[in-house]
Formats: sequence, C-alpha cells, structure tokens
Amino acid sequence: MGKNTRIFTDVDYEKDGKQVGWLYLPYSVTRSAYGNISIPIAVIKNGKGPTVFLMAGNHGDEYEGQVALCKLIRTLEPGEVHGRVIVMPAANLPAALAGARVSPLDDGNLNRVFPGDPDGSPTYAIAHYINSVLFPMTDFYHDLHAGGSSLDYIPFASMRKSDSPDLDAKAMAALKAFGAPVSLVWEHTLDTGFANAAAIQHRIVTLGGEFGGGGSVSVSGIRIVEQGIRNFLRHAGCLAADASAGGNQTPTRLMEVKNRHYFVLAPEAGLFEPVVELGDNVTEGQLCGQVLFVDNPKREPVPAYFRTAGMVICKRRFGRVERGDCVAHLATDWKG
Ligand code: CA
Repeated sequence: MGKNTRIFTDVDYEKDGKQVGWLYLPYSVTRSAYGNISIPIAVIKNGKGPTVFLMAGNHGDEYEGQVALCKLIRTLEPGEVHGRVIVMPAANLPAALAGARVSPLDDGNLNRVFPGDPDGSPTYAIAHYINSVLFPMTDFYHDLHAGGSSLDYIPFASMRKSDSPDLDAKAMAALKAFGAPVSLVWEHTLDTGFANAAAIQHRIVTLGGEFGGGGSVSVSGIRIVEQGIRNFLRHAGCLAADASAGGNQTPTRLMEVKNRHYFVLAPEAGLFEPVVELGDNVTEGQLCGQVLFVDNPKREPVPAYFRTAGMVICKRRFGRVERGDCVAHLATDWKG
C-alpha cells in the first residue's frame, strides 16, 4: 500500500467546465507557520472521454512549454473539449519561479525523483502527487521540456521506448500526430527517475520533447509546441472535430538516440572549445572539441571525440566544464 499524498486541492477532477486552481503542498517556514506551496493546475472537462495531461515547468528554466500552457489555460474552453484536459504549466513551481532547473527549496530535480515520496522534501512530494493521483486518471501525457540553462537543442518532440510494443506503437502514432519538424525516440538516456518513465509504467501514451534551450524562450519552439499540443489533443480525441482547422499531419524527420555512445562527455575540467555546430553531421572519431586550461596555457589541450556517427542535436551552452559534463549529443535517423 502506498502512502497518501499531503497535497490537497480545490479543483474537482470530475466536474465539467473550466477550473483554474492550485495544488497546496503544506510547507511550514518562519514567515508562514501554516503555509503552503501553491502549484497551479487547470482542469477543462466536458463529459466523458479521454484524459490528456499536459505538463511544463518540470525543469524551471525551460520556458516554451510554460508559455504555451499558460496561454492554453486562458484560451481552451470546455465547449471545444471532449473528455478532460489537465494542465500543469509550472509543475515544480519553486524552480519555475527561480528560473532554475532544480528547486531552491531542496535542490530537487523533479525529473529525476519519480515516483517521488509523499513525506519527502517538496520536489519529492510533487512527483508523488503526479504519479499517484494524476497519472492514474491519465490516458495521454505530454511533458514539455527544453535544454535548460546548460544545453541548446534543435527542437524536437520525443517518445521513450518501453517494454510494450503496443504502447510504443500508440506513442509513435501520437508523436507523428504532434507533428514537430524532428521527432525523436529515446532508446537510451543517461539517468533514471524521469516523469515519462513513470507515466509509461501507468501504460499512458507518453510524449516529451526539447523545444529550445539555453534558459531562453524560443519563438520557433513556442510555435511548434502550440501547434503540436492542438494536434496532440485532436489525436487523443479530446478536441471536438469541428474545433480543428488545418489538421493535416506535417512531415517529421524521425530520429533516435540509441546508446550512451551518442553522448560526448568532457574529459577534463577546464574551458571547452567546441568545433561543431548544432545540425552538423559528424563521423565516428571526429573531433567534437577540446578542453583548454586558461590557468596553465602551456598545457596541451585535451580533445573530446564523437564515438559514433550522427547529427549534433544538442550542445552544451556554458564554456566552463567539469569532467563528465555532457558537451554534445547526437541523434541518427530512426531505423525502427
Ligand atoms: Ca529538461
């Protein structure tokens, strides 16, 4: 038996209409003994039908999804909806308000702590609520990301390989329907505790995506998200057919990240000089860049090489590196 969440809310997930309210996470501090962290949530419901859960602000310094979902909450009306749309535009609110990847309250990275802990620090409690309350009522989920302050990305929507071919086929259909210029299949990631991996455990049709980066707000990324979200809602059967305009599927380039050799890590601490740009096609063994030592310029620079061929889809934004920082990663055309 799982423990119960401490989070309470004034929205009713079963009620028709549009509700914009908050999840209240008790957080007792000097300035507020009976205080709560108030995380925004919207429920837009119209009768029976599928539930689509849209989330942004999982990382606080990734903004295209936050922008698009704030606007969606103000514009999407229950009359257009068939079923239920649940929207969290700033899932890790303390991180979003700080413009930071992790929460300033507990250094928590929401996208590394799933399935969370109801009695843990705020980030763990938020993950637990999403996993134990929201995921069980969800049929389709989208977690909108970007590269954060430290990474730049070529924008793409994505899905994660699961252990179920049937679920993967449904996610692939949703990914194509979303219609980003690039669509990517994650067969390998460097870490665990992801929201998307937890959603897949609930057998939810799950998408993600990186729609910008560098802690900035990408105009083209917002366009891709706003159009893609409409396409995703329509694909899920959650937008009434007559609400759609120009719903033709846009062609997408299907790509994948297959293993850890797609990632290039800094070999030393220092100043990283990249020699490739986003979108470059590289070969196995090609130079990615080199680490220089400004405190000892006579020291030989240390090179970092690509360990497989592919297209540079992600690059580190900051110049200074520690050993083990990801400085670039590749994607290759999807082989199926
Ligand atoms: Ca992210």
